Amino acid sequence: MKPQVLDSVAALREAVAGWRAEGSSVALVPTMGALHAGHMALVHAARAEAGRTVVSLFVNPTQFAPSEDFSSYPRSAADDLAQLAEAGVEAVFMPRVDTVYPPGFATTVRVGGVTAGLESAARPHFFAGVATVVTKLLLQCLPDAAYFGEKDYQQLATVRRLVADLDIPCRIEAVPTVRAADGLALSSRNAYLSTDERRVAPALFRVLSEMAAALARGGAATDEVVRGVAALEAAGFGHIDYLAVCDAGTLTPVTRVEGPARVLAAAWLGTTRLIDNVPVDPAG
Ligand code: AMP
Repeated sequence: MKPQVLDSVAALREAVAGWRAEGSSVALVPTMGALHAGHMALVHAARAEAGRTVVSLFVNPTQFAPSEDFSSYPRSAADDLAQLAEAGVEAVFMPRVDTVYPPGFATTVRVGGVTAGLESAARPHFFAGVATVVTKLLLQCLPDAAYFGEKDYQQLATVRRLVADLDIPCRIEAVPTVRAADGLALSSRNAYLSTDERRVAPALFRVLSEMAAALARGGAATDEVVRGVAALEAAGFGHIDYLAVCDAGTLTPVTRVEGPARVLAAAWLGTTRLIDNVPVDPAG
């Protein structure tokens, strides 16, 4: 069955109220569209746990800097809707930009702590944009649970923080990163890679995984970061925005892994910026 396509907050709230009246639970999967198997893993996880699932498709302008790819960001609404129909999603929320940000809009949600460093260093505007739109989507839909990918690990931590801090009554569910067979994390931006760049791209996951294994054996973070940077450069990566070993909860840097940790990186291949992260399990 085709999902209902909703473009106003009132229509979204009416659909959710109808499901609630039937006793259904409700899940929300926020996306910017250009859906791939990574997004669909979130959708399938939501469908498995909730009575009704809403997927939002909204390319959020406030999380892009003027120099970034907002206008050229891949958009494929017809294909997205076909995939969501196939998955059995009940509703798709596709608001216009001026529905989310009407004239006079003047509120920004800023999250401290976990947003420091990493993505923020290169994209200082990014998490305020994400936090503001996610807060709005959660309050518009008021789902029982919302689903986010570990692919964007700092974003996931930011969403967990804001939901706890603002008492938004919604569970945040994390879904592991979906990868191509060669290890590259699926991303809408992979479409920008040339054939040669696509061949180099899986080195990011390979290097992060090698670092995680060495750190789990007791290696020092500084040594592993030096080795990792050299390995990424040797593989053909250009500028490395960051390569860091952080506490998995607070995202503060660690020197040696003694509890759950994460290796996180952002690096450029030509004009495309790739991000990825892997867990370090000190017991593993
Ligand atoms: P985006 O449309 O890129 O904003 O992503 C929407 C959601 O899908 C976010 O929660 C992402 O973390 C998640 N996501 C994107 N790529 C993947 C992936 N390869 N595996 C799992 N989740 C993903």
